[in-house]
Amino acid sequence: MTGMDLSFSAGTEAATALDAADPLAAFRHEFHLPEGPDGSPQTYLAGNSLGAVPRSAAGCVNAELERWARLGVAGHFAGESAWEPYHELLTDSLARLVGGRPSEVVAMNSLTVNLHLLLVSFYDPTPTRHKVLIEAGAFPSDHFAVESQIRQRGHEPAGSLILACPRAGEETLRLDDLLTLIATHGSELALVLLPGVQYYTGQVLPMAEITAAAHGVGARVGFDLAHAVGNVPLALHDWNVDFAVWCSYKYLNGGPGGIGGAFVHERYAGDRSLPKLLGWWGHRAETRFEMGTVFDPAPTVESWQLSNPPILAMAPLRASLDVFDRAGGMAPLRAKSEQQIQYLDFLLAEVIGDRVETITPTTLAERGCQHSLRVREPGPDGRAVHQALQQSGVACDWRSPDVIRVAPVPLYNTFADIGRFVDILDRALGDAAR
Ligand SMILES: *Cc1c(COP(=O)(O)O)cnc(C)c1O
Repeated sequence: MTGMDLSFSAGTEAATALDAADPLAAFRHEFHLPEGPDGSPQTYLAGNSLGAVPRSAAGCVNAELERWARLGVAGHFAGESAWEPYHELLTDSLARLVGGRPSEVVAMNSLTVNLHLLLVSFYDPTPTRHKVLIEAGAFPSDHFAVESQIRQRGHEPAGSLILACPRAGEETLRLDDLLTLIATHGSELALVLLPGVQYYTGQVLPMAEITAAAHGVGARVGFDLAHAVGNVPLALHDWNVDFAVWCSYKYLNGGPGGIGGAFVHERYAGDRSLPKLLGWWGHRAETRFEMGTVFDPAPTVESWQLSNPPILAMAPLRASLDVFDRAGGMAPLRAKSEQQIQYLDFLLAEVIGDRVETITPTTLAERGCQHSLRVREPGPDGRAVHQALQQSGVACDWRSPDVIRVAPVPLYNTFADIGRFVDILDRALGDAAR
């Protein structure tokens, strides 16, 4: 297997040694991790679905509740966490995580809402250039959003929606095939919308190459970073991406339904020719409260904001971003993550063998921390194995039709968690068969 570190060995002592050598080990204690039914800690490998809660989150939320009680409406403008510019407290940290400039990044709304807002601006079809390239296996919300935008703009998905598929018998998308589709639809292609990390397979797509190819035929490019942000290093500005959206409840630990985020490249900041849905929070902040009805856009991505945002949803994300910053950002986290990915690969090969197949690409450049596992024939039913895992205190998820997703998150998962998971999987494969 590519990239495997042959110096790993199985067993709890080896895991303990890896944890002892981990410079980020202390960050685990900054999170509450769920307990199983018997009160023992779960092996929490579901951070790709809902990240763990930082211990400091409650304090951040309570601080705003207290300010509300103490200050009432004056809290909008008073003090260092005044609510009117509160979203700005998140910007710099988010910009570092996605590789954007602060003027290109804003925390607002939720992922699908942001996707719609940016499709309004960046899917601006003409009679000859009206096609959108997405993947056939796109997250349903993305597919629905694009389909409805195509119809909204007077076209039909049948003629305007291009679906990229893996080749027969393969699981993941090939860059060559994407480049061929982009070249084939060339002058008819208005937009390419792809994930940074594919939610089902865990594949990381080559965002810089895709962006360059799409721009080469005159199309725009957006990325859904739901599974990428906080998982893999990103450089949206340098890659020249037009726009991106993400949610914060997965690897960013922002809490259930937490505040989403958006990136728009700075070359569009002052572009008044883009169609855009407007609201008062997109107005230049200095003069917003003069209450004029001539829209004067904020000179940044903030001009896409509509409403004054939910402070109580932003507070836990603020707590989590502070943890990311103190951990040193994505470079050290990714270094640990690569080691954890290889350790899990090693243990799966060593302990589980060919009873389970990993559909995630094997090379490190093409994967984040998520491993998408499929129980091989003639083994037990995958869903039963997933249930057995849960009953034994492993939190991981099942995605139809047949994949178990496990994600060791470098901020709070240990090498011991990975070892325990593989031991429990080993047993679950037997238990589920009975
Ligand atoms: C999790 C996820 C979403 C979720 O969308 P919301 O609008 O936050 O509910 C969207 N797209 C992808 C690819 C996801 O993984």
